[in-house]
Amino acid sequence: MTDNEFTLGSVALNVSLRPMAIRTFEAHRQMHFWHREAGGQLFGVTKSGHWTVMEATGPRTDDKRGRFSFWPSRAAEQKEIEAYHARGLEYLGDWHTHPESRPTPSLKDIDTIQDIVRKSQHHLPGFLLCIIGRSEFTAGLWMSFHDRVGVTTRLA
Ligand SMILES: [Zn+2]
Repeated sequence: MTDNEFTLGSVALNVSLRPMAIRTFEAHRQMHFWHREAGGQLFGVTKSGHWTVMEATGPRTDDKRGRFSFWPSRAAEQKEIEAYHARGLEYLGDWHTHPESRPTPSLKDIDTIQDIVRKSQHHLPGFLLCIIGRSEFTAGLWMSFHDRVGVTTRLA
C-alpha cells in the first residue's frame, strides 16, 4: 500500500495521483482468475498543465461486471459527478481493471472514453483513461489522455 503521491506526464500534461486514489486501484487489482473487472471514475482538481486525481470511486452495485468487461451504471455515474462537484472536485476520467500484467486499452475502451470527451459538457481539453493491470503499481498502470479531436497521449 502506498502513502506517496505519484506524478506522471508528458510535456503538455502532468498528472498526480493522490494515495487515496491509488489505494482504490490497488484494492481492486484482478489478482485471481475469478476476479471480475472493476472500475469507476476519477475526481480531482486541474490547473493548466497539471491535474491532481484526488479520489477514485469504486465499483457500484448496479454495474455489470465480467472477467473481461465492465459496464458501469451511467445513472450512478452522473450522481457521483454531481456529488463530487458540490465538494469542488471535477470529473477527470475513468478507470478500470484488466486481467493482464501490463494493461493496454481495448478499441472499445478508447471508443468509450472518446465518446465521453465528445458528448459531455465540460471545459477541460479532454479526459483521462486509467487501466489497472495485475503488476504492482506503477508497472501495472496504463494512463492516457484523450482530447477532443481524438488524439490519445500515453502518460504511463
Ligand atoms: Zn478495458
